[in-house]
Amino acid sequence: SDGRGIFRVYSPEMGSKIRRYHYLLEELRLAMASQNFHLSFQPIVRVEDCSIDYFECLLRWNHPIEGSISPAEFIPIAEESNLILELGNWILFEACRQMSAWHAAGMNKVRMSINISGVQLKHLPLHSWVMDTLNKVGLPPRALLLEITESCFIDASEDVTNNLQKLRDEGVQIAIDDFGTGFSSLSTLANLPVDVIKIDRLFIDQANINPKYQKILNSISELGKNLDLKIVAEGVELASQFQLVKKLGIHCVQGYLISRPETSHQVGANVISKNLG
Ligand code: C2E
Ligand code: CA
Ligand code: CA
Ligand code: CA
Repeated sequence: SDGRGIFRVYSPEMGSKIRRYHYLLEELRLAMASQNFHLSFQPIVRVEDCSIDYFECLLRWNHPIEGSISPAEFIPIAEESNLILELGNWILFEACRQMSAWHAAGMNKVRMSINISGVQLKHLPLHSWVMDTLNKVGLPPRALLLEITESCFIDASEDVTNNLQKLRDEGVQIAIDDFGTGFSSLSTLANLPVDVIKIDRLFIDQANINPKYQKILNSISELGKNLDLKIVAEGVELASQFQLVKKLGIHCVQGYLISRPETSHQVGANVISKNLG
């Protein structure tokens, strides 16, 4: 109480959250300067034969004191501060450069997928940004996929969807990420420039516990197939989940059952040396 009837609402927890936020923001700025980031890659495989369709590029931050900090914690801070724009430039360039090297090493049917944040959609001239990077690196557009969350799609302006459409015309593919969590009307699927639906992990997680989730999973899968979209199930950890996905006719899976995200060196050793993909 400040006296004279004035009270302030404050909890120690609030203070520590705000402190953590400012601490991470400062550390992020330092990390950008000192190159404390690297990329990890997780394969998305076809259900029919477990061959690799593409790799999802996932950002990793190795903090000198704290060790690995989850992107689920620091990406929102990078977004709020617009640091994601500079970081995102590096991610796109580095991921494309890596894919180009893997193509040259013989893994030339595999694509690279990159997470694009809503802040990037809003602030970047998407078509020229992506095409310039592809040209610089010498990677063909068909080797690239962009993952955009369902909730960002809903907010996308006409200018953004036009840019995405132009990229699709060049051969870049577009995926809706975390599908089923963003409250979009299903009819918007008809109008979005999209090739791939990634069904959120929540549905796979719950399918074996709650049969209703299985039915929703089935419906999303049927709907997607009717619209000629490729369906990917995220977060497959168990053999029983893989069997379910297979039964539902879902095209591709991603998850710890197949592989955890790996460094480029691990991918190179596992995939290229065995001549997979
Ligand atoms: P996301 O795009 O949905 O990425 C999938 C997340 O699920 C990754 O977490 C991945 O490691 C995790 N995952 C994969 N298979 C399994 C599984 O079988 N079980 C479980 N429990 N988890 C699995 P990660 O790497 O911690 O990334 C979290 C989120 O951070 C991503 O969710 C994405 O939204 C964001 N993110 C990561 N890297 C980037 C990036 O380069 N740019 C942007 N804008 N966002 C990124
Ligand atoms: Ca993703
Ligand atoms: Ca996802
Ligand atoms: Ca997610």
